Amino acid sequence: MRTQSIVKLIDAVKDLDTKSYSRLKEAIEKRDSVKFVSYLLNNDNNKMCCPYCKSESIHKWGIRNDLQRYKCKECVKTFNVLTGTPLANLHKKGRWLSYAQCLIDGLSIRKAAAECGVHRNTSFRWRHRFLQNANHIKPDKLSGIVEVNELIFAKSEKGSKKLKRKPRKKGYRSPKHIPSSNRVFTLFCRDRSKNMFDDILNKFSAEHIRSDLSSLIEKDTLFCSHNKAAYLKYTKENRVRHGVLNMSKGESVKKDVVHINNVLLYQFNLQVWMIRFRGVATKYLHNYLSWYREMDEFDFSITPETVLVRAMRPERYNTNHFR
Ligand SMILES: [Zn+2]
Repeated sequence: MRTQSIVKLIDAVKDLDTKSYSRLKEAIEKRDSVKFVSYLLNNDNNKMCCPYCKSESIHKWGIRNDLQRYKCKECVKTFNVLTGTPLANLHKKGRWLSYAQCLIDGLSIRKAAAECGVHRNTSFRWRHRFLQNANHIKPDKLSGIVEVNELIFAKSEKGSKKLKRKPRKKGYRSPKHIPSSNRVFTLFCRDRSKNMFDDILNKFSAEHIRSDLSSLIEKDTLFCSHNKAAYLKYTKENRVRHGVLNMSKGESVKKDVVHINNVLLYQFNLQVWMIRFRGVATKYLHNYLSWYREMDEFDFSITPETVLVRAMRPERYNTNHFR
């Protein structure tokens, strides 16, 4: 735009009434945001390859919707940086960073929808797409002293149009009051370097713990837990050193180092954080666990840019680019 035109435009802004000024401001913010998000996406530092045949022999093929397109020399298909990622085919890019901020703030689907000016169905879809990669970002190894504890959730069909049971008038007073057929077991492991692993178990047994932790726990690890039979059996059968606590008799620390205080604190904070959602559907529980784990990994100071880039490319996980 010529300098003269810009001066005229700036002059015109001075004469705008409040309503017109707000509309103009909104349009500028929206444009800036789309550009910024596209810039973030287009400038991904990873070497691009074809999402269809994984060939690195690609070349640029124009720009569409602010995103650089590429063409594969091998399979001749075209794609952009979002093709094959959880964010593919989502619209309204300009609001993605605001939505990432809503995730950081732990807003409900309705509140996030209102904050970003999108429909609640869009808010719901975005939440689960943004968190899809977080489910796969877990540590490969836990070492040193590993604190382990389970947590029981009640099965929930929240959001289902047809309940398979009578609706409950009240929640359960404590996990002990949840009938065994209605329990969902989750396992939490945290080493002293704050590496965090969690998973949903089909059943709380030594076999299920082993299949979950076989490649995660190193041989010289000190496995700290209370004295439930499943933990005793797992550690004995797999020759894992076990720092066992008899917590029902008030034993919370042994030899100064054997305790599970860090994992207990993590679970407590997670449960407090989850209160705001007023129940979580069991089929989405893993997303909420991953969501909280991601926040914890960054000591709750993760930026919207990091949330967005991780939602697009989990392999960026180990880079400190946006931290
Ligand atoms: Zn290809």
